[in-house]
Order: sequence, then structure tokens, then C-alpha cells
Amino acid sequence: MKKMKLPALVYLILLFMTTTIAGAAAPAKISYTVSFPEAQAHYVEVEMNVSGLAQPSLEVKMPVWAPGSYLVREFAKNIESLSATANGKAVAATKINKNTWKINTAGLNSVTVKYKVYAFELSVRTSFIDVSHAFLSTTGIFLFPKGMLNQPSTIAIKPYKDWNKVSTSLEMVKGDVFTRTAPNYDILYDSPLEIGTQDIFDFDVAGTHYEVAMYGGGNYDKERLKVDMAKIISAESAVYGENPNKHYTFIVHNKQRNGGGLEHLSSTVLGASRDSYDKPGAYHGFLGLVAHEHFHLWNVKRLRPIALGPFDYDNENYTTNLWIAEGFTAYYQNIILRYAGLSNTEIFLTDMVGDINTVENQPGTKVQPLSESSFDAWIKGYRPNENSYNTGISYYDKGAVIAMLLDLEIINSSNNKYSLNDVMKYMYDTYYKGLKRGYTDAEFKAGFEKFAGKKLTDFYAKYINGLDAIDYNKYLGYAGYKLNDELASTNEPTLGVFTNTRNIITTVLRNGAGWVDGLNVGDVITHIDDTPVTDLAAAIKSKKVGDKIVVTVSRDGQAYKIPVTLKRNDTVKYSITELPNATPQQLAVRKKWLQL
Ligand SMILES: [Zn+2]
Repeated sequence: MKKMKLPALVYLILLFMTTTIAGAAAPAKISYTVSFPEAQAHYVEVEMNVSGLAQPSLEVKMPVWAPGSYLVREFAKNIESLSATANGKAVAATKINKNTWKINTAGLNSVTVKYKVYAFELSVRTSFIDVSHAFLSTTGIFLFPKGMLNQPSTIAIKPYKDWNKVSTSLEMVKGDVFTRTAPNYDILYDSPLEIGTQDIFDFDVAGTHYEVAMYGGGNYDKERLKVDMAKIISAESAVYGENPNKHYTFIVHNKQRNGGGLEHLSSTVLGASRDSYDKPGAYHGFLGLVAHEHFHLWNVKRLRPIALGPFDYDNENYTTNLWIAEGFTAYYQNIILRYAGLSNTEIFLTDMVGDINTVENQPGTKVQPLSESSFDAWIKGYRPNENSYNTGISYYDKGAVIAMLLDLEIINSSNNKYSLNDVMKYMYDTYYKGLKRGYTDAEFKAGFEKFAGKKLTDFYAKYINGLDAIDYNKYLGYAGYKLNDELASTNEPTLGVFTNTRNIITTVLRNGAGWVDGLNVGDVITHIDDTPVTDLAAAIKSKKVGDKIVVTVSRDGQAYKIPVTLKRNDTVKYSITELPNATPQQLAVRKKWLQL
């Protein structure tokens, strides 16, 4: 950036003053009413009133994406029957692009816009309505008046039939559960609403009141959840030294099979399988999800990449730092459970080695650097195709692994004085609380270096922006651990493809036998060496590495005989094991790392 010359600066100051004076007129008042006369058909009816207008036209817009979920979802596609009225008369509302309507407001003080939204996609970032409840993901429900994102708004909720509860982090107006207010649109769009008859329990921890809204029933044990969730919240608050919320809401959608979550500033939405709370593995997974989404209230919702705020609701917001925003959160979801005593060393190391195995077995890890994986989330990570496994790497999985390496590096090189926790707190204090802005790539790198006491330029060049093979044993060795590949001595033949239960190829692995010899995704494998195939794995297992076989596939309804030379299965299955004779320094790093 070039420095601004003085005359230009004076001009800008004058312009700013003029704008301020001109904008001093009373701001417009914005209110919404949502009702559900056709909940059974999955519709919400929205009435939006904007008053205090003094402008010839008003543009109202629907966001195209939901922050935290990096995909343009075109929420305006679910809007229908939009109309505008003023003083009881129809006013022209013209659609001028995919998510914008322009309303003629010449001579009008206020205008009312009515529309319906179809909502039948229950996920953490979309809306769903049926007779049992309404989940309103606000980015897909509420139009905003262009140029008024900083304006407050109120929402009056007219519930359907027996719906009697509203769970959201939006504040009540005059103690009315069904009337909520948002100080600006960034808050409104960061505050989903669950409306219905959900089961609610609450507790206080870390100076914050927590409400958990359970939709869909399930075999959860409320008392156990209160205790375990409070442990997670305490451990996470301790990393940052504070919990910035007064109130926080967990909205949990329990379904037959469900998962995933989406973070918000003062709430989160989680998916869970309703009958799996009593299964240890699934319960561990649920607590990990709680830890993950709740950790985001600091990491990404407040301590954020500079590109992620203020949000551009019309366009993608590009950042190379989702490996910090998401990957580090994926690391913390594991280590927080260890800190909180909800997992032990063995479980923690198993969680981490799962991420390592995912990264190391995916051919795309040698193709897409971590920073690019973040930048291209919009067109790649969130839009996977049959070749994604070969071309990309998840910033969740590799980001979690990188967080572990950096944690170990900082602990070791600071002689057990600091850990990654100190970096997170320092960055939160400096950029969110102090400078009140997001961080740049260089600033976060400087944060790591401050506590590591050394330059990490080489680390970034190799592992963040480059494609070097990760030297796991160097970092694990600091804590007296090493990786052990349980499959190192095997010599199993493989076709180098993934198939489904009907022997249809779903993925052809880069440089595998199928890749080299021309098997395609979609091919149905019918015969191996002219023998009909039922159990494909057994058929291949009966061969040897280097065997030349003939694979008959049905492709587009025609049979093809394809000669394939079987290759060794190079899949790795690492475990983390203790080094014999760990030194006192290694044991001290381990103690600091795992808070033993
Ligand atoms: Zn996340």
C-alpha cells in the first residue's frame, strides 16, 4: 500500500464530515413479523416494515451465504410472492439481480415488504419448518435494506399452534419471549432461532448463563450433560482468560442420524443422533462437537482472519487462514476434552492420529497447500467432486495436525514456559480486544514466533504454503512419542480404487493401479480374470502385488476388459507410541502439552 498524500487526506476528512452531517437524519426503523400459517408445508411468512425513510428508492437484499459455512448458497432461491405496500397501496418492487429487489419509495416515509420463504432443509446453516418446529437460520430468512447493516431491528414471532418456546441469543424486548431485537445485522445474521416445544435446560458457568435447547428428543442425560458441558466451557474459558458472553445458547437438533455444527457469536447449532448419547464413542463425539463449536466463540467469531468481517453478504470473503479458524478449533476440540478430564492421554492421541492418518492417506495432500485449501474452500472444499480426494486436503484435518506440531514446537522451544494457548490468548487480547480488528497472516505468524522464540518462516514455507512431507517424529519426539505405521510390513495388492457395496467405483486414487491403467469412477466391476465378482476385496486379496489381471467393467452399459497391474497398498495406519527411555525434558514437555 502506498502512503496517502496530504491533500487527498484533507479532502477525505472533509468528505467524511459532510457525509456525517448529511447522515445525521433519524435512522430508519426496521421491524419484522414472522408467522407460520402453513408450517405443515414448510413456509414462513415474513412482513418487514422499514419506516423513517427519506430516499427515492430502497433496495432490500437476501444474503447469499451464511458466515462460518463458506459456500454461496443463494438463499434468495427460497423466496416467493414478494410484494411491497405503503399506506395500504401496492408499491412497485422490481427484482434487479439474484438477491435484490428495488422498491420505489419516492415520497414515502415507510414501506412494508411481504414475502414467503420455503424452508425444508434441516442443517445447521439452512432453515427448516414443519408442524413440530421452526429452525430459522437468519441469513436465509430476513432481507436487509441496503446500506443499513448497522441498523437495529426487532422481530415479532407469531408461533404456530402449540409452539411456546423460542431459543436464540437475540435479546427479548420487554421480557417477551416472542419479541426479539438485534442491534445490527451482523448480530441478527449470527443468531439463529429455534421456535417450538423444545426441551430446555440451563446452567451457569464461567460467569455466563447457558441454555441448551434440545429438539427432537433423545436419550440424553441432562444432569450429565450439564456437568460435562460445564467442564468444557471452563477449560476453554481458561485458555482465553475470559468468557465474553453473558448468555449463550446451544440449539441441538436430535435426529435419527445427525451431526455437524455451526458456530455463532453467542450461540451454536449442533446436530446429534437422538439415541446415541449412551454409546461411549458417540458421546465422546458429541462432547467434541460441543468443544469445537463453543471454542469458535473466540477463535473465528472474535479472534478472526481480517477478511472475515465485516462480512460481505453478497460475495465470497476470501481468507488463507481457515486452517487457524477451523483446523486449530479441530485440534482444540480434542485437547480441551483432555484438559477437562473428559478424555485421557490414550484417547487424545487416538483422536490426533486419526487426523494424521486422514492427511497422510489422501493423495491431495501432495497437491494442495494448506493456505490454498482455505482460500478455495468456496469452490473446492464445499463443492467436492469424485476427484477431490486426489486434488485437495481439508484445512480441518491438516490444520489440526499443524496446530499440534506448533503446540509442541512452542512448548519445547520455550523450555516448557509457553504453549499454543498463550498464542491464542495473546492474539485474542491484541487483535480482538485491543485493535478491534481481524489478524493478517503475517500477524498470526509473528504471534507464533513471539512465543516459540524463533522464526517459523521455514515451517510456513514447508507445511502451510508448501507441500513438504511432515516430519511428525521431530515434533512428537519433543514429548517422547513417535509414529508407528502398523501396516509398514504388509505387502497387500490393491486396485487403488474405492468402491461402494455394489462394486461401483466411487474414487480412483491418484497414481494407483486403477489410475495408471484406466479404471473410471462409475465403472461397475463385474469380473476379475473372467470370474464374476461378488466379494471384490476377497478377489483382489487372492492376488499378488505385480500380478497382471483383467478387470471387466460395465461402463455406460457396455462391457470393457481392462488389463490392470496390481500395486502395493500404500495406505498407512499410524499409532502414536511412547519412545523408550524418555528424557526428563521430554516428559516435562508431555506434562505441559497434555496438562497432566
Ligand atoms: Zn468449526
